[in-house]
Amino acid sequence: MRIPFLLFLLIPFVLFSQNPYPQDYFSDPLEIPIVLAGTFAELRANHFHSGMDIKTQHRQGLKVLAAADGFVSRINISPFGYGKALYITHPNGYTTVYAHLSKLAPKIEAYLKEQQYEKESYAIGLYPPIKALLVKKGEVVAYSGNTGGSGGPHLHFEIRDKNEHPLNPMLFGITTKDTKKPLISGLYAYPISEDAQINNSNSKQKIRLRKQADGNFTAGPIQAFGKIGLGVEAVDQQDLANNKNGVYTIKTQFNGNPNFEIDFKSFSFLETNDINRLIDFDIYKKDKDHIQKLFIDTNNELSLYKNTIDRGYLTIADSTSGVYKIKVSDFKGNASWITVSINGKKNPDVLTKTPKVTPYYIYEDKSLTLEEENVTVNMYKNTFYDNFFLDFKVANDTLQLLPIGYAARKNFRVAFDISKYNEADKDNLFIAELVGYKKWPSYSKTLRKDNTLYTYTKDLGYYTLVSDTVAPTIKALNFKNNQWLSSSKTLEVEIEDDMSGISDYRATINGKWVLMEYEYKTNILTYHFSDQKTVEGQNDFKLIVTDNVGNSSTFEASFHRK
Ligand SMILES: [Zn+2]
Repeated sequence: MRIPFLLFLLIPFVLFSQNPYPQDYFSDPLEIPIVLAGTFAELRANHFHSGMDIKTQHRQGLKVLAAADGFVSRINISPFGYGKALYITHPNGYTTVYAHLSKLAPKIEAYLKEQQYEKESYAIGLYPPIKALLVKKGEVVAYSGNTGGSGGPHLHFEIRDKNEHPLNPMLFGITTKDTKKPLISGLYAYPISEDAQINNSNSKQKIRLRKQADGNFTAGPIQAFGKIGLGVEAVDQQDLANNKNGVYTIKTQFNGNPNFEIDFKSFSFLETNDINRLIDFDIYKKDKDHIQKLFIDTNNELSLYKNTIDRGYLTIADSTSGVYKIKVSDFKGNASWITVSINGKKNPDVLTKTPKVTPYYIYEDKSLTLEEENVTVNMYKNTFYDNFFLDFKVANDTLQLLPIGYAARKNFRVAFDISKYNEADKDNLFIAELVGYKKWPSYSKTLRKDNTLYTYTKDLGYYTLVSDTVAPTIKALNFKNNQWLSSSKTLEVEIEDDMSGISDYRATINGKWVLMEYEYKTNILTYHFSDQKTVEGQNDFKLIVTDNVGNSSTFEASFHRK
């Protein structure tokens, strides 16, 4: 009985020594209890989520508090991404980030506006001098909002270390109530070696899960042979909301021996695109499901793995039987188990894997230039993770690059020669990616050199040339020409462009640039009269909006102020 007692003594020590992060240094950034719409490192499109998304009771304008003493080290304002974002650097070297804000606290907002008016731009990146904007722990530094790429009001909160690596804020004691186990919704098995087979097939197989009375799962027996790997689809739910958030760790063992482990404590922004190597990218492109591979595929250099044996792969011999277990845990240690029995059996009738053969083969470690008709595609060395046959075709200004299920590590270049178009038409052309089942044309950032239009992309799929001859539309929403607006707080204008999209806008009152905040989700530009850029009597407002091929529209109106 002495050994269990000793273990009991050791457990708190081990837990303590594994967490080198200060527990009371940072306080909650909102005054309301933390309810999460998203967790750290949650699987998102082409990136791991770099912070936690704290729900704001469907409201904007909640006070956002500095998590600790420090100084404002960065202010980044963009219509997209983080929206209005504030960065506070603390004496212990960590930086906290607050994003999708509606506005900043008055002294910080004043600093920002001065710079926006000086640079004549709403979008701006500022690094204030170290002691210019000091803040105290608990001080109101901003108000929550829904700006940028935010799908509903919430606060995106991050903690970064000195190297700008985001860390899981839960490691610092910023957590939420969680007594629920992670949810498991899918299991896949992958043949890896050429001779590998799973359930009498040489291609990946979806494995049926059976839920047990205790909430855990069993699967199988799978009949397998050769080198294989497994993949799981799992999310975590916490007590105070039903949002499907990311899990914290996944560990596996085969016949009692640990063979794979991943945890979501920290990552680097340089590796975030490699999420596409962690997941089954092919299934993600087809169904938007995130199947996490429980093995480290070739060219996967993510830093999230540890203690793996043979990169998490299993080698199954004929006439054997084994038990594979997957443990999926959340930060609070609630765990769901999947127990998979695997019977080693080689079926001589199953063929070895033979990919679809096309004339174009991608070697991931070689460059390749593809040319047909007026299209050139430049794939660089290490553009992809895999070697694969590419289906490359060009017809009627449309490029086809298939299959879409291979992820790119970096951009490749797609170029169209437009010499055959007349001069006037050339100016209206852009490259569109045809997206989704309906092949909707979506503007791909198009550059031009003489008679070549080109774009950089990571997406296989379809690309075409589209002509945009229609200028953006501009509509006043809360005023009319020659109106008295003495008691108005804002000027609001709706701007839209239906082909290439809005590229730029410039607003002036009485000939001087004024700040209009752009909300792309509602297509609304807003000027705040509190900026005090108007005069008594008549004011002349002018707005020029330009689309991505350079078509522009001008709107003018006068209004009066007391
Ligand atoms: Zn977020």
